[in-house]
Formats: sequence, C-alpha cells, structure tokens
Amino acid sequence: MIRGTENRRQIWPKGPYFGLAFLFAALVYCVAVLVIDVQTKLTRLATAQTDNAIWGLSQLEVEFLAFQNAVLLSAASNAPDLDQVTLRFDVFFSRVSMVNEAAMFTALRDDPELSGTMAAVTGARDRMAGLIDQGGAPAQILPLLLSETRDARGPVRDVALRSVDLFVIASEGSRARLSSVLTRLAVVSTVLVGGLIFALAAVARLVRRTARHARDLQRSTIRLQAVSATSLDAILVTDDHGFVQGFNAAAEQIFGYSAEQAIGNDFADLIMPGHLLDQHRAGMDAYHKGGKLKVVGSGRVRLEACRADGEVFPIELAITRTPSPEGDVFVAFMRDISGQVEDERTLRQARDDALAGEKAKANLLAVMSHEMRTPLNGILGSMELLARTDLAPDQREHLEIMSRSGDLLLHHVNDVLELSRLDAGHTELAQEAFDAGQVILDVAQGLRAVAKAQGTEIDVVLTGAQLDHVEGDERRLRQVLMNLSGNAVKFTENGRITISAARREDNRVEIAVRDTGIGIAPEDQARIFDEFVTIDPNYNRKVEGTGLGLAITRRLVEAMGGVITLESAPGAGSTFRVTLPLAVLAHGRRHADQSHGARDTGGGTIRLDGMQVLLVEDNPINRRIARAMLEPLGCVVTEACDGAQGVELANETAFDVILMDISMPRMDGIEATRHIRTGPAASAAARIIALTAHALEEDIARFKAAGMSEVILKPISAERLSQALDRRKKRRQIDPQLDAQVLDMAIFGEFAQVLGPEATAEMLAKFLADAEEAVPWLIWHASEEASREAVANRAHGLAGSAAVMGATALHGALRKLEAAARTGAPLAPATDALSPVWDATRDKLNTRSAAA
Ligand code: ADP
Repeated sequence: MIRGTENRRQIWPKGPYFGLAFLFAALVYCVAVLVIDVQTKLTRLATAQTDNAIWGLSQLEVEFLAFQNAVLLSAASNAPDLDQVTLRFDVFFSRVSMVNEAAMFTALRDDPELSGTMAAVTGARDRMAGLIDQGGAPAQILPLLLSETRDARGPVRDVALRSVDLFVIASEGSRARLSSVLTRLAVVSTVLVGGLIFALAAVARLVRRTARHARDLQRSTIRLQAVSATSLDAILVTDDHGFVQGFNAAAEQIFGYSAEQAIGNDFADLIMPGHLLDQHRAGMDAYHKGGKLKVVGSGRVRLEACRADGEVFPIELAITRTPSPEGDVFVAFMRDISGQVEDERTLRQARDDALAGEKAKANLLAVMSHEMRTPLNGILGSMELLARTDLAPDQREHLEIMSRSGDLLLHHVNDVLELSRLDAGHTELAQEAFDAGQVILDVAQGLRAVAKAQGTEIDVVLTGAQLDHVEGDERRLRQVLMNLSGNAVKFTENGRITISAARREDNRVEIAVRDTGIGIAPEDQARIFDEFVTIDPNYNRKVEGTGLGLAITRRLVEAMGGVITLESAPGAGSTFRVTLPLAVLAHGRRHADQSHGARDTGGGTIRLDGMQVLLVEDNPINRRIARAMLEPLGCVVTEACDGAQGVELANETAFDVILMDISMPRMDGIEATRHIRTGPAASAAARIIALTAHALEEDIARFKAAGMSEVILKPISAERLSQALDRRKKRRQIDPQLDAQVLDMAIFGEFAQVLGPEATAEMLAKFLADAEEAVPWLIWHASEEASREAVANRAHGLAGSAAVMGATALHGALRKLEAAARTGAPLAPATDALSPVWDATRDKLNTRSAAA
C-alpha cells in the first residue's frame, strides 16, 4: 500500500451552482425588500393615527357643536355665561388650528375641496374670535356669534364629512397597495419556495453523486493500494521537488526504509548513490527552469540505487510524470536487478568461456593441420616415390592400401578444417571472373572414369548463354560440385548422372546434380545436411565418408549467398539443386560443346624442362620428396634449408620459381619473400609459391600480401606441384578473346618493318628485360597503398612500349592497372589479370625474338 498524502478531488463543479446561489440570494433579497415594504405600509396604516385623525376631525365638529350650543344656551339665558362661550370657543379654536397645522392632517389639507371648506371654517373661526376678543356686551356679541355659528355649521359639517370620505379613500388606496405588495410577496415567496425545493433536489442529487464518487474513489483507491502493496517493484511517488509522497511495501523492502522514514524526505538523499547526485541535482535545476528530465518518460533505464545500509546496487527504473494543480507528481517504478545483472554476468562469462573454448578449438585445429599435414606430407610423398620403385605385387598392394588410407585421412583432416573455417566465419569469398560452364565440365570429366567403372554415365547439360563469363568464387563452386557429383557417383550404380546448369529469370544460376541412384528417404533428407550424418545406405557397396561433405556444401552455398535444396525418393534417385547469384560479366565465349565437354585437365603429361626452381624448406625429408617429384618433370632444383639461405641464393641467381616453406628457423618464408621482392635479388621477379600446412584463410591472405604468387597446401603431390609450376596453365586463364590480342601481328609487323631486323631484336630484348622487371614490381607494389602513384606511372610507361609493339592485351591490362591506381579503385583485379597476360605476351615475344 502506498502511504502518503492524497490529493483531494474537485467534486463540486463551480459554474451552475454559483448561478443558483446567486439566484437564491436575489430571491431572498426580493423577499426582504417586500417584507420591509409591507412593514412600512402597515406602519402607515397604523389605525391609531387614522383613528386620531378621524377622531380629531369629528371632535372639530363636536367642539363646534359644543360651542354653538354654549352660544345658544347663553343667548336663551337671562344670565348669559360668556365665559362658558369663550371656553368652548377656545377649544374649537385650538381644534381648527390643530387641523390646519398638525402633520397628521397634511393629506387632508392637500385635498382642494376640503382645504376650501376648511378655509371657510377658519375664516368663520377667526371672525368669531374677533367678536369675542372685542369684548362687547353679551347681548351684542351673542346674536352675532349665533349668526356666525349658524353660517359655519354647514362648512364644519362638510369638513367632517369630507375628511371621513378622504380617509375612506386613503385607507382604500393603502389597502390596495398593501394587497399588491402582499401579492408580489406571495409570488416571490412561491418562487423562493420553488427555488428552495429545486435547490434541495439538486443538493440531494449532488449528495447522491458525491456518495457515488466517493465509493468509486474508495474502490479505485483500494485497487491501487492492492496493486501497489502487492507490486514486486518499488513504487515511489514524489512531488516536483523530489520529496517523497508515497513509498510502497516493496520500496520498504528493497531500500530498507519504512514509509514513515521516507515520506517527506528528498528521495535523492534516501536512495541515490553519491556519484549520481550532482548529475541529478543539475537535472532538477534544469527541469525547474523549464527543461526536461532525461529519465522521465524514457521507458526502462538501468541505473544504480543505494540501500539504507549504503549498499549500491543496480536497478531498472521507469518514471512517469503526471501534472496536477499542486505541481507535477512523479511516480517511479524501480526493480532490483542485482540478481539479473549477476545472471547476465555469469552468462557473459559463460559465453566468453565458450568463445575462448571455440578459439582454443580453432587454434587446436590450426595446429593440428600443421602437425598432421607435415608428417602426412612425408608419408604420402614417400609412398608416391616408393610406388615408382620396383616392388613385389603384395608390397604394391600394401602400398596402395596405405596410399588410399593416407588420402582418406588427408581428406578427413581437410574436411574438419574446412568446416571449422566456415563456422568461424573466416571464409572470404573470391570475386573473380571465371567460366562456370567449364567448371562443371571439369568436374564431370574428373569423375567420369570412376563413374564408368560402376557402369554410370555422366552427362552435362548447359542451357543458354551467360554461364561462361561469370563473377564469383570458382574454387568454392568447384568444391560444391565435387561434393554433390562425388556423392552422386558414390550412391549410383549402373545409372546416369546429369549435371545441368541454366541461368534463371531472376538472373541466378541454377545447377542441378541429378542421379538415378539409391535415393534418400524423406525423413533423412533434412538431416543429411547436418555435420557427421551418414545414413546407413543398406547398400551392397561399402561407402566411406565422415558425413561432413553436405554440411560443408550447405555452408559454402550459403556463404556464397545461394540456396541448396534436395528432391529425392528411395530407389528413384536424388536431385540436389543449387541456386547461386553469379553475376554475368561482359559477354565472353559460349561453349561450343554443350555436353561431354572433355578437356585436358593436365596431369602427368606436363613437362617443365629447364625450369630453375629454388626449394626453400627446412625439413630434409620434405626437401627430398619435393626434389624427387620436380626433377622427373625436367626442373633444375636448388635447395635452401631456411629463409636466410633462400634469400642469399635468390639474390645470386634468377630462379623461375621459388617454392617457399613458411615455418622455418632463422628466417621464415614470409620474411624471406619480402626480402626477395624488395631487395636486389636476381630472383625479385620470380614466382614465389608458398608451401604450407597453414590452411586458414587469413594466413593465405598474409602470404599473398608478403608477395607470394600462390599457395600449395601440404602435403604436396607431384600432380599438384606440376600444375602449380606449369606456366601453360596460367595462360589458359586468359580470356580467349584477349588471347588474339596478345600480339597484334599487324602492328608488330609494321613495327618490325620500320625498324629493320636488328633494331627490332634489340628493342624486343630491351622491352622484355624492362617488362620482366617491371611486371613483378607492379604486382608487388600494388599491395602498398603509398605506391599508387609510382605504380600508375610505371604502368603508364610500360603500357606505351607495349602498344608500340602490338602487345595489345598487355597494353590493355597495364592501362587498367594505371586507371585503378589513379582513381583509388582496388588494384587486385587489375594485377591478377596482369600476370597471365604478361606470361602469354612474354612467350609470344620470345618466339618472335628467336625468329628475328
Ligand atoms: P560424406 O562426406 O560422408 O559423403 P555427406 O554429407 O556428403 O557425407 O552425405 C551424407 C549422407 O547423405 C551420405 O552418407 C548418404 O547417406 C547421403 N547422401 C548424400 N548424397 C546422396 C546421394 N546422391 N544419393 C543417396 N544418398 C546420398
């Protein structure tokens, strides 16, 4: 439960109630005014005053009659009592004065009729007063008075009657006004009562609504409190200055403060570790100046917090901001992730350990490759040499078994290495121009003999153009096709294998290897691509294999951006289909032979007569074997037992080829190659071929960077050596269209004609010498970024000479290299193309120079 202060909600809406209250007040005011009015009217209607006035006026007549009576009595008496007459007159006199002057008669005096009559009465009174005040004899005065009183009697009577009338009129007016006021009072009171009833109803409704709100509020408060109380996350509510307003049970548990201790304190002082305080305070300052708080509303963030006991631990935190009339309210949800962080650390550690294990495994495999291949080299090489000697038939049979087993062992080692390389992601794919159709034809041709021995035919069907000049990794494609076609041969007897290739509409090349062999059951079709899976073929022939072939094939195809699929049914054969993105390059040659494209793959017929070979190798057995393989080919072999001796010999003699071992004492092969390429060596331009058991991709890249032309993996075989050393093989890599341009005879003829035979021979010799030095120099320096300009200039110079001679292909290759060097483009494609073109050009020019 969150304990803390609550914000009271505004339940009473202001507008309409304010208006109602105003109306109510106005009504009360009206009633009050009316009540006061009625009061006034009532006061005015006070009967005492009216009675007084009527009584006063009736008394005027009474007093007049009493006076007249006294005059009559006195006149009839023998002894007239004038005193009595005077007394009555005085009373009458004062009564008239009172009517004329007293305030209560003001309204009567304003009446024109009454005021006229009253003036007559007053005139009579004043005349009679004059008579009485003269003081004459009663006999004289009384008749006069009698006459006057008789005359005045009518007006006095009129005054009395008129005043009664006036009072009647006045009191009727007052009654009417009072009645109107009372009517209004009744109306206003009715409205007021109605208003009161309405107000009461409204209040009752409000009370009900308030009660409902209160119940809702209570329910949602209970729910919130339940959520907050049971939350595993700490929930902290603070005001906009960071003072804690709420602190739930989880917060108490995580941070070690009770809610009472926390509430009212700055949360930063409670739970923020010292190293975050400055940053927090700066953030709060910025926020109060109108800025934004970084963490607020940014979802979950990882930070550190501090417990009451000072322990700093990792938390996951999410803060939301809610505006309220009292300022922003912040709610922070915090989770103690110490455990999670620890788990992550353990996992990371485990991953690092596993990676280290993987690395150790990879290293072990690399070492294994060296350690296993070197003795294998010795064994297989020696067996090859042994096979050339005279042997008894059983000895030859044993030797063949040993040789087959050795080859198989080598194959297995290579497979394991290849797989580990692919898994380590060390596979760098070549992007080179090659003839995909030719690769297929080569693979088919290579397997035909084995297939034929089992009664199986191999067909090749190349559909459409655009296969002969593609860009990709030729070696990898060959490996894929070898694996698939090799399997097809292995699992097919007396059947037919068809390797077909076509470019699809989406521009990908689809190659299918179809056989009519034993087929693969549906349940095995997915798993044969896993490593070390071999299916018991239930086949009457023993089939050897580690179960790595298809695993490697799949990885290779995928590394090349392709897909491999399988359709098969037991007994009906299998079709492995590989789809690869092999881009079409500028159109080249089309295959004239669409099937059975047999081709001389080299082999034992190669002769390398007179080729000067320097063999740099520290292992005497390997030296002996290599020499034994090279000399029968016609090579002249010189041996060096380490890199340093190799450099010395290369400095003195111009070798055609240097076979360079890598791991050697004193100076290794890489160092020695560098010295030969950059030093004053007579063999600076020689082809340097690395002999190595180090099969990893990055090693090969290192060798090439040091200036080696190619790499032969140990164990070496006579065939592999002869193919690597065979220059003609290099020539075959030249684009056939280019082949025609190696020496443009029209230009060369003109050149020879202009110069004459002697000068032509001289120029040719000079050009050959220059190029012999310049081409290896260009190839070597092309790998150095700093030498781009020098490469461009030297390529430019040589290209000029080549053009004059008609060495059009060489001219083209040099101009390409020059352009690449000047534009900053990669130089490798240009230098790769240069080598075979130069080889071909040199051969052609040598022939010319011999003819000259
Ligand atoms: P290996 O290197 O041992 O030949 P692969 O990975 O190449 O192993 O092949 C694995 C298994 O797949 C083989 O043992 C075989 O049972 C099956 N297989 C592969 N290709 C074919 C095929 N063309 N016909 C029948 N079975 C095949």
